[in-house]
Amino acid sequence: MKIYIENIRFWKHISYAMEVMCRCIHLHDIDFMKAEEYLPNDCAVYYGRNIPQFFKGIFIKEGGFFGDSYLRREGMPRLPLKRYKDIPILFMESSYEKPDIIEKDYYTELNFDLIQSAFFIVTGCEEIINRDGTFDIHSRYLIENRILYKENFLNKPIINVYAYMLQQCLIYRGMIEAEKRPPAAYAHISHDVDWPYARKSELEKELIKNTGVEVKRKADIGFDIIFETELKYDIHSSWFFKSGGSNLGYDRQYDMQDCVVKQLIRRLVQKGDEVGWHYSYNAAFDPIQFRREYHYFTESIESDTAYGRNHYLRYMIPETWRTYSDFGILYDSTLGSAQHEGFIYGICTPFQLFDAVRGENLNVWEIPLTVMDGTVCMKTYRGMNPKEVMETVDQLVQEVRKYGGVFSLLWHNTSFQAAEWREWENTYYELMKFLSDSLVCDVGKRIIEAYQ
Ligand SMILES: [Zn+2]
Repeated sequence: MKIYIENIRFWKHISYAMEVMCRCIHLHDIDFMKAEEYLPNDCAVYYGRNIPQFFKGIFIKEGGFFGDSYLRREGMPRLPLKRYKDIPILFMESSYEKPDIIEKDYYTELNFDLIQSAFFIVTGCEEIINRDGTFDIHSRYLIENRILYKENFLNKPIINVYAYMLQQCLIYRGMIEAEKRPPAAYAHISHDVDWPYARKSELEKELIKNTGVEVKRKADIGFDIIFETELKYDIHSSWFFKSGGSNLGYDRQYDMQDCVVKQLIRRLVQKGDEVGWHYSYNAAFDPIQFRREYHYFTESIESDTAYGRNHYLRYMIPETWRTYSDFGILYDSTLGSAQHEGFIYGICTPFQLFDAVRGENLNVWEIPLTVMDGTVCMKTYRGMNPKEVMETVDQLVQEVRKYGGVFSLLWHNTSFQAAEWREWENTYYELMKFLSDSLVCDVGKRIIEAYQ
């Protein structure tokens, strides 16, 4: 399928956003063309300001973001957003009253700009524009600032919704065939290993106090619980280990090459799971720290392929993403929010990170995080009860299934033994049964391959 682009200055941005959306509808055979090459009656997608003569296909009217106000405060979408059938639209040409899809004899016109809308959300433009004073103590962009939060649209993957709209138009115009089967949908279940050891019993603490002798450390009980449950439900998952850390307050120090950890890693590789890297608290902001940990991680697993997630879900767009790219990180799965579950970057399909400042595809895959255990279960964040957690996950999984995307769940190995977690053990079992019944539960690497 040919896609014609008028705005040459933003060619990379436009083709990137289009690729992201086409991947959402499993459309891979696309060619980008300059608008002036358009030949009358050629059935195609055309993105620009002026409909060419004798046009056939889908015309998408370009909004105002890809121009002089790009990445400037005055370029931000105006709230409340206009909506097309309840779906928020971030950008559209200002002369139109409301977003609409208009069917003409030979073409369909979308008078709103779903390309700029998708681009803005998936590349984190609002975080780049709002650099001052809108982050929490861990330098994380606050959920209250986010447009999708303000528009109450975190429970639906808005970019997949846009892509679906485009798909319906393409099918109507006979430019693609309707999908015969529902596409495969996945669950990416992952475990950040902040701390791999069992808590010391009162007896052990007493012994250490009295004799000064350290007792031999054992693996945390969470590993056994997760291993057994995942074996029972035939789940393969990703484990992200820390390979360093320089923050005394937020990084607990352990050694990936310690025998207990090595034994754990052997066991999970045998199970068919994936060993990834949990980059430390400061690594997101300090490329030298990132390098140090990267080397220790790759040395420990004897492989150059690294993928993983930032501790505390920390990152700064686009600097942290550039660091991932510099080290050839295969995929990252940090993009989510500790404060809120859902589709924070508006998408449930893996995508490649794009540096909106330099206009470069960074060739690092992202599997965005949908739900973290603490976010939904702990009082400090959403504080749901078990029934609410199951209902929320069910609703998000329905969306993921609809679009053939990925539901990404983070459940820590340490979320079992601590007093505040004991009441959640049954919910964990229920969740695993539900996910294995509803989705293909696989490791990140294979999930990425499925979307490439
Ligand atoms: Zn962590």
